[in-house]
Amino acid sequence: TNPVFTGIETTIFETMSRRAMANQAVNLGQGFPDVDGPQDIRQVAAEALMEGPNQYPPMLGLPELRQAVAAANKRFYDLDVDWTREVVVTSGATEALADTLMALVEPGDEVIMIEPLYDCYLPLVKRAGGIPVRLRVTPPKWELDIAALEKAFTENTKAILINNPMNPTAKVFSQEELSQIARLCRAHDVYAICDEVYEHLVFDGNLHRPLMTFEGMRERCVRIGSAGKTFSLTGWKVGYITGPAHLLDPIAKAHQYVTFTTPPNLQKAVAFGLAKNDTYYTGLAEDMAAKRDRMAAGLSRLGFEVLPCDATYFLTCGIAGLGLGEDDVAACERLVEEAGVATVPVSAFYGDNAPGGFIRFCFCKKDEVIDEALSRLEAYL
Ligand code: PMP
Ligand code: GLN
Repeated sequence: TNPVFTGIETTIFETMSRRAMANQAVNLGQGFPDVDGPQDIRQVAAEALMEGPNQYPPMLGLPELRQAVAAANKRFYDLDVDWTREVVVTSGATEALADTLMALVEPGDEVIMIEPLYDCYLPLVKRAGGIPVRLRVTPPKWELDIAALEKAFTENTKAILINNPMNPTAKVFSQEELSQIARLCRAHDVYAICDEVYEHLVFDGNLHRPLMTFEGMRERCVRIGSAGKTFSLTGWKVGYITGPAHLLDPIAKAHQYVTFTTPPNLQKAVAFGLAKNDTYYTGLAEDMAAKRDRMAAGLSRLGFEVLPCDATYFLTCGIAGLGLGEDDVAACERLVEEAGVATVPVSAFYGDNAPGGFIRFCFCKKDEVIDEALSRLEAYL
């Protein structure tokens, strides 16, 4: 038989969600909230579904959503964005990443990425013909080794792919790290693909500053956001890209042939959501930080080594000394099968040679769900 490409594997999120279902486990694996996002946003979507428009919206996105994305860039980061040429709406950040890599990466181009890596980065870069150049940050502080980063840049480097705030480390890159990245991008004429889906899920006074705001980066950065994360509506798959027209032109061409558009009622509702007042945005981060605290306190009581968490939906924990073994994959298997709690092994976020002994817990869950998971773990350990 004619062979098919077998280089794309099942993502750990799908694997663990299936196992959670099969075992009736509490699912703290895949990252999604267990409540629906704001009712007023859903109401706008419902009304637009009934009243239309329901036909193909403009390929780049509904004007009102592109305007709202440009306005949010101004409001939160003082970035001036021309909504007519510098915004593209996509079906989730995942599509935005696929379009961007398809447009910018040619066979043989090197793409620098920082491990641990979000699941789709390696398969998409490889499928685009790019050569992944991986360097890593290491627990507990996940600091970027600037000397190692410096070495990663070569004359073949096309882009750096950076996830800030970072999944699964819950790290917010420091100003110093970002300015070093910017310096190297300028010096080597490299693009930066900035996955910033957790931009509004930053805690304790930490500040998210897009790489795009750094010197010389406005023309080099593609900045990706997601309504899924910003409005707790992960199933909607509405994403948006901001960038200079010379980068967004080829990216929009890729977008034409991947999805062409995104449901118009959802776009309308997300445009409404982006204009929500500051109370919404601070409330979102405060609610999430409270969940983090609840889960972190419970897990450290049980003996997990809870690493710092400045952002995102996730807590990474060391499992040494819990009797679960060194192998994080085996530990997660035991926890889902025997304790009834699904988590994700952090080694899944590495190309190879992953550090063992860390697992990721998703905390964007109802308090009673967090408590149920903690009591199942307590009973098991
Ligand atoms: N990037 C990161 C770092 C993520 O954690 C996720 C998952 N939510 C995505 C991209 C994908 O976002 P979306 O659901 O909007 O495709
Ligand atoms: N971003 C989510 C996570 O990290 C998962 C999204 C997905 O399953 N594609 O868990």
